[in-house]
Amino acid sequence: MSRVYNFSAGPSMLPEEVLKKAAAEMLDYEGSGQSVMEMSHRSKVFDSIIKGAEALLRELMNIPDNYKVLFLQGGASTQFAAIPLNFMNGSGKADYVITGQWAKKACAEAQKYGEVNIVASSADKTFSYIPKLDKSTFTPDADYFYICMNNTIYGTVYHELPDTGNVPLIADISSCFLSEPLDVTKFGMVYGGAQKNVAPAGLTICIIREDLLGKARDITPTMLNYQIQADNNSLYNTPPCYTIYICKLVLEWLKENGGLTAMQERNVKKAKLLYDYLDNSKMFHGTVVPEDRSLMNVPFVTDSDELNAKFVKEAEAAGLVNLKGHRTVGGMRASIYNAMPYEGVKALVEFMEKFEKENS
Ligand SMILES: *Cc1c(COP(=O)(O)O)cnc(C)c1O
Repeated sequence: MSRVYNFSAGPSMLPEEVLKKAAAEMLDYEGSGQSVMEMSHRSKVFDSIIKGAEALLRELMNIPDNYKVLFLQGGASTQFAAIPLNFMNGSGKADYVITGQWAKKACAEAQKYGEVNIVASSADKTFSYIPKLDKSTFTPDADYFYICMNNTIYGTVYHELPDTGNVPLIADISSCFLSEPLDVTKFGMVYGGAQKNVAPAGLTICIIREDLLGKARDITPTMLNYQIQADNNSLYNTPPCYTIYICKLVLEWLKENGGLTAMQERNVKKAKLLYDYLDNSKMFHGTVVPEDRSLMNVPFVTDSDELNAKFVKEAEAAGLVNLKGHRTVGGMRASIYNAMPYEGVKALVEFMEKFEKENS
């Protein structure tokens, strides 16, 4: 068996230990005589899986008791509508910062339900930076303030959070979930699709401060109502059972490997190797301003579309797959989430060095 290094932005690599454990438990989960895929979501054995996953997540992220953890479906994209439906019900206003496609989509969804103030945008330079924010442009009575924390497509991240005072800050953390410690108390809500850093596709995790619940608009579909999901412990309907089980295995793996501080150290080391190479290469350049660079998604280009295409093709043949960049940036993008080992990034950098020599 030979496994590739997968640099996809998502779905992405899972830790090999997790895949092996899932394989070993596939036919008979802990003596239950069945796979987790087959068991009732109301069974005792599944109850211990979902409760176990929540407990591990709370421990790893240091989530305070006054926050609910919800395991939902519909992807991060469904929350783009659920957020205004659940929270835009005071002044009916919300602030959005546009740092890429995902923030833009979230904003467009909110505009269907209320008054949206676009506080800042980095669209002028293809989202290659995080805009500086001026507090005087914030809406004082906004129901919430929305950011996309790590911009998967463009490779930027907020190193400093906006100071929104009493207005709850809501962040899409899909592509930086569990990549480093995060102070949950700074947020009214954080959420993300699991398929980048936490589990296979099909699961969306929402972490919501309790006092924000119970304010959903009457028209909110039942399945999108966070209060109802919280009251039912994420079991209002059939949850994505197997994905939640893999999520639990990933969380166990994180804990065994030293938790989020250790993960941050690993991720910094991996990203530094790649950024240092990009900063010194004559052929490849990073596309993001250095101060806003993401640890997770690293877009880069050469000066020629032809060379970019050749690079992606030859890298793939060498077992370094899914390096093609998003169509709006062009070039390449290496997503180096938690499960990408240091050796994978090293193999990429060595391949880039070789390619640069051969083609210049
Ligand atoms: C991938 C991604 C999304 C979309 O996630 P889905 O689960 O496919 O809806 C939203 N936001 C960010 C930051 C992402 O990386």
